[in-house]
Amino acid sequence: MSPAPEDPRRGGVGVRATASRAVPCGCGKMKGGGGTMEPFVWQENGLFRLAAWEQAYPVVAGMTSRVDPDGGPEPFNLALHVDDDPQRVVARREALCRVLGLPPEAFTCAEQVHGNRIVRVTAQDRGRGRLARETAFPATDGMHTDVPNVLLAAFFADCVPLFFLDPVRRVIGIAHAGWRGTVLDVAGEMVRSLAVHYGTRPRDLRVAIGPSIGPCCYEVDERVAAALRTTFGDDVPAGVLTAKGGGRYWLDLRRANQKLCERAGILPENIEVTSVCTSCATGRFFSHRAEKGRAGRMAAFVAWTG
Ligand SMILES: [Zn+2]
Repeated sequence: MSPAPEDPRRGGVGVRATASRAVPCGCGKMKGGGGTMEPFVWQENGLFRLAAWEQAYPVVAGMTSRVDPDGGPEPFNLALHVDDDPQRVVARREALCRVLGLPPEAFTCAEQVHGNRIVRVTAQDRGRGRLARETAFPATDGMHTDVPNVLLAAFFADCVPLFFLDPVRRVIGIAHAGWRGTVLDVAGEMVRSLAVHYGTRPRDLRVAIGPSIGPCCYEVDERVAAALRTTFGDDVPAGVLTAKGGGRYWLDLRRANQKLCERAGILPENIEVTSVCTSCATGRFFSHRAEKGRAGRMAAFVAWTG
């Protein structure tokens, strides 16, 4: 068994020993959901912070909620592709950067299409997609960078945010995995892309799987189940699909991505999984399913700040 990767800056391992306040999502039927400690810690300003990473490494990482960090009354939608005033969306993006201690130009994003294309974000790419959809990385569901102070942001309302960190190569990444991206193994594509671009070794990688629709709320049909069976080669790991009867299943998308990360070589002990369900707690989250497709979008974000 390899030791946990050494932290290049603060020398810290043992970062899991972080006090955290798990967020009750209002779901009394929670099944599974990962480890014993909730990695995403709710702050009063409406942000979930990936506290263990932020304490161990020079990074900011986490996820927004419906709640405006500045206390405004409007839902804190961060996506330009939903029915919202673009100027307000851009202003919220700037507010997020301000709260995180970054300049507004740091906000960098892609046009997500439920695919598995991954891009490297260079210093010249910083700020792409911030002001208009036209400048975002087209047809892209994963981004990574080794450039400090680039805030990689991706948008969510139930889909699974995947956070990646290689503390040895000082690289971060983010990916968007709904069921289609999961079936296309966007997680594995990220691991392979990190290896190609930076020489990242899977055993060095840390992964966090963020707030998203849980197995308590995510019912799918036979078509989705069949696609997952294809991805896992007919050997779907226990707990990913739970038959409900009548050709319906409960799908644990987080667990599916956890297993795909392990298949790509990431050590199980380096994968942290939330238990927070976005569909159970619509007072706090946007939920595509719970709001019948009219939801805004949260942003998952990560940046090296050192
Ligand atoms: Zn739920």
